[in-house]
Amino acid sequence: DYKEGGYHPVHIGETFNKRYRVLKKLGFGAFSTVWFCHDMFHNKFVAIKVQKSEESYYSAAEDEIEILDKIVDNIKTEEWKESIEEYNEPNNINSAHCLHMMDHFTFEGPHGKHIGMVFEVMGHNLLKVMKLYDWDGIPLPIARTLARQTLIGLDYLHRLCNVIHTDIKPENAILCPNEKQLMEHLDTIPDHFKTSIQGPIQSSMFFSKEQNKINKRKKKNKPKKKENKNTEEDKEEDEKKILDESVQVKLCDFGNGCWIDHHFTSNIQTRQYRSPEVILGGEYNETCDLWSYACMVFELITGDYLFHPKKRDDCSKEDDHIAFIIELIGKPELKWLKQCKRYRKFFTTRGRMKKIFHHKIWKLKEILIDKYCFKEEEAEPLADFLMQALQWKNEDRKSAQEMLRHPWLSMPSNYDYLVEGSDDDESQKEDDDTASWVTVSSDEE
Ligand code: ADP
Ligand code: MG
Repeated sequence: DYKEGGYHPVHIGETFNKRYRVLKKLGFGAFSTVWFCHDMFHNKFVAIKVQKSEESYYSAAEDEIEILDKIVDNIKTEEWKESIEEYNEPNNINSAHCLHMMDHFTFEGPHGKHIGMVFEVMGHNLLKVMKLYDWDGIPLPIARTLARQTLIGLDYLHRLCNVIHTDIKPENAILCPNEKQLMEHLDTIPDHFKTSIQGPIQSSMFFSKEQNKINKRKKKNKPKKKENKNTEEDKEEDEKKILDESVQVKLCDFGNGCWIDHHFTSNIQTRQYRSPEVILGGEYNETCDLWSYACMVFELITGDYLFHPKKRDDCSKEDDHIAFIIELIGKPELKWLKQCKRYRKFFTTRGRMKKIFHHKIWKLKEILIDKYCFKEEEAEPLADFLMQALQWKNEDRKSAQEMLRHPWLSMPSNYDYLVEGSDDDESQKEDDDTASWVTVSSDEE
C-alpha cells in the first residue's frame, strides 16, 4: 500500500509541519498509519494519524476533521455538564470519552497530498484488552465500567455533536495508557532521534491539559502496586491490574462518522456489528450505533461475537446474519420490513426468509445462563440492558441517554456473578459449535 494514493512512506526521525518529529509507529488501520511523535513546539508527545492520500481518502479525512472539530468545539456546553452529573460520572470533564484532536495539517508526500491529525497518545484498544484475557471475556467490573464510559461517549456524540460514529467495535475504543506503557515507548527509540526532547521526561508530557487534570484526580485514589516485574506473564498481570484500578476508555476513529442529518453512504458498520436496517437497506439513524454498542458489550463480557455470520452452501453471510438476529430477538414486523429497500433479497412478501426456514429461538438471557453460566440475577438485568438496543426498528431502541439510566450500569460488581463451579466447566462453552455464538478469531474480515 506504500504507493501512489496509498500510505505516505513515513521515516523515523522526519519532521511533519516543521514541528512534529516522528519517533515510532503506533498502529495502523484500513485508511491510515498512526505515529508516536515529539511536538517540538510544546515539548510534548503526541500521536499523529496519517491518512492515505488518494482523493477519496483525502476528502474522507476532511469530513473526519469536521467531526473531530465539532467534538472539541462542544466541550464547554453547559447542557453536557448537567447530563454528566446526572450519570454520576467521576471524571467530570466534558467529552472525556471521545478522543480529542489537538491539531491537523496537510503536507505533500511523494504519493500525493496527505492529512495529518494530531491526538494525545493512547494505549491498547479493546480488542487488545480482550486478548489479554485470552478471549474469555473481560471481568465484569471492568467490562461494566467500559460499557458505561463508551455509552457516555456515544451520548455525547449523538446529542451534543449530532454525529453518528457508524463503526463502533472494540478496535475503535482505546484506553488511556498508564505511565509505564508510555515510558516503554521511549525505551525502544534510539537516542539520536530523541535530541529534540528538552529536559527530563515527565508523564504529563504525554497528555493533553484536560487529561492531565483527570490523571491528577485519579492518582489520588490509586492503590500502590509492586514494581520490578520482568517476565511476559508478569507484565500481562500488571496490565490487567492497571485496568482494574483506573480504567478510562475513549471512542476513536471518526473516519467513518457522519452527521445525523447528513449521511455520506448507506454502506456502514463492520459486519458483526451491523444493524438490521443497514443489512436490509432501510433508513438508519444514530441508534445504529447502539446496536453495534450492544454487540460490543456482549463481546467484552463473554469474549465471543454476539453475531458471527458465515457464508454457507445454501445461503449468504447476510442470510445467516438475519437468521441469527431472528433467533435472538424474534421476527421483524412485516410493515417495517417492507420499508427496507433490500428486503426482497432475503424475505418473501409474506415475511418468511427465502433461504432459511427453521429458527431456533435462543433469547439473550438464556444464552447468558445456558452458555456463559451467568447467575439469573446478573443475566436478567444485563439482557434487559442490551435488549434496549437490540430492536429491529430504530424507534423501538432506547437512546444512549436513556440507556445510561439503566440499573445494570450501576449494579455492584464485587460479587460472584457466575454459577458456582462453572469455571471448571469449559465443555458447555466449547461443545456447541453448531450454535450461532462462536469464539472470536483474530483473522476477521
Ligand atoms: P483507521 O481509520 O485507519 O482504522 P484508526 O483511527 O482506527 O484508523 O487508528 C488505527 C489504529 O491505530 C487504532 O485501532 C489504534 O490501535 C491506533 N491508534 C489510533 N489513534 C491512536 C492514538 N491516539 N494513540 C495510540 N494509538 C492510536
Ligand atoms: Mg479503525
